[in-house]
Amino acid sequence: MSETRPYPENWEARVPLFQEESAGTPFVADWSLLLPAGLEYSGLKYTLKSGLQVHIEKSGEGKAFFVEIRLRCGAVAPCSRCLKETPLEITGSFRYFYTPSAAEEGQNADEMTVAYQRDAVEIDLSEQIWESLVLSLPEKVLCRDDCAGLCPRCGADLNLGDCGCPRSGSDPRLQVLKDILPSVSEE
Ligand SMILES: [Zn+2]
Ligand SMILES: [Zn+2]
Repeated sequence: MSETRPYPENWEARVPLFQEESAGTPFVADWSLLLPAGLEYSGLKYTLKSGLQVHIEKSGEGKAFFVEIRLRCGAVAPCSRCLKETPLEITGSFRYFYTPSAAEEGQNADEMTVAYQRDAVEIDLSEQIWESLVLSLPEKVLCRDDCAGLCPRCGADLNLGDCGCPRSGSDPRLQVLKDILPSVSEE
């Protein structure tokens, strides 16, 4: 996630690092982060119905600690087959390990390890929250499991009934080939 940061600049998602005072008590916070422009990812545009609800728990003492990020939000996205706006609930839970010395210890910092500056007084979780949100998105949005999708020829919503186009059952790209080359046969 080193490309330009897609999350809003004004997200307030910082956790203070009071090593001594907070020893033994985990830092807990609940935030509602706004995503006014929605979220465009993998060709789908998600519109959030409310703020992104984020629950944060920092645990572990000293310079190295865990931060658990739990998030939840209602959203609307187009069905992957028929494009109908479909409500969905996005939830996710991720745990990041923070350390000021990942490189020094010679560990190959994995994706969930975040190195921070040794003299930092707080850490900004915006990037990890954004990453968690993206990782929580469904692989596919379907308005219903058996969505019939759109007719590949005329674009009609097949959930509303048959559009009348010839149903060869073949791939429309193959159909084009068959029109040009009558010898192409379907398996
Ligand atoms: Zn659909
Ligand atoms: Zn059709």
